[in-house]
Amino acid sequence: MTVREKIPMRRPNPSKSETGNNYGKHKPDLQEDFNYCCGYCGSFDGFGYTKTYFEIDHFVPKDFLIKSKSVIGLSKYSNLVYSCRSCNNFKTKHWPSQRDDIYLNGDEGFVDPCGSEYENHLYRTDDGAIMWNTPIGKWMVTIAFKFDERIEELKLLWKYNSIRLTIEKIIDELNRYSVDSVEYNEIKNQLTPLFEKHYFLQKELADFYNG
Ligand SMILES: [Zn+2]
Repeated sequence: MTVREKIPMRRPNPSKSETGNNYGKHKPDLQEDFNYCCGYCGSFDGFGYTKTYFEIDHFVPKDFLIKSKSVIGLSKYSNLVYSCRSCNNFKTKHWPSQRDDIYLNGDEGFVDPCGSEYENHLYRTDDGAIMWNTPIGKWMVTIAFKFDERIEELKLLWKYNSIRLTIEKIIDELNRYSVDSVEYNEIKNQLTPLFEKHYFLQKELADFYNG
């Protein structure tokens, strides 16, 4: 399976200007373009606990851009990634190429999470863990993002997001029928066990974060 349910794509023309240092203004555009999920680990941003607080990551890191006096401005939309706090924090220390135009240094470095190339290096197991297909993927999993150490959290968040998307799909389907039709009631019955699962997963996640 893919790491992200939907591959994120940045819009070519962001609604806010790409000049200046206030890159936070791009957050609403990024949230939509990344389907409300972390670009790197695919976690959904709606869970609401502090540890899944979402941030704006600079793909070519902010500190490196400043230090190297790069022509890439801090508000350049094509360099921004909607990211969970964990991925953003883990990534911060790493930028193996030490160039703003080259992302890889041999088997170390990052692949832009927008587009399908990212998915060539990584994959999602049936139970929601993130594994690698390539040495670069292995570097991202074990060195940069530490997906291997975050495996329990990632599995829970993945399950939570899958159930959420399934419920959304069924509700869309439900809305195509009138309330008193046979179809409506049949589809509605499918929702009950899913709501139950969703509820218990939410509790499991809360317990996970609250220790
Ligand atoms: Zn993440």
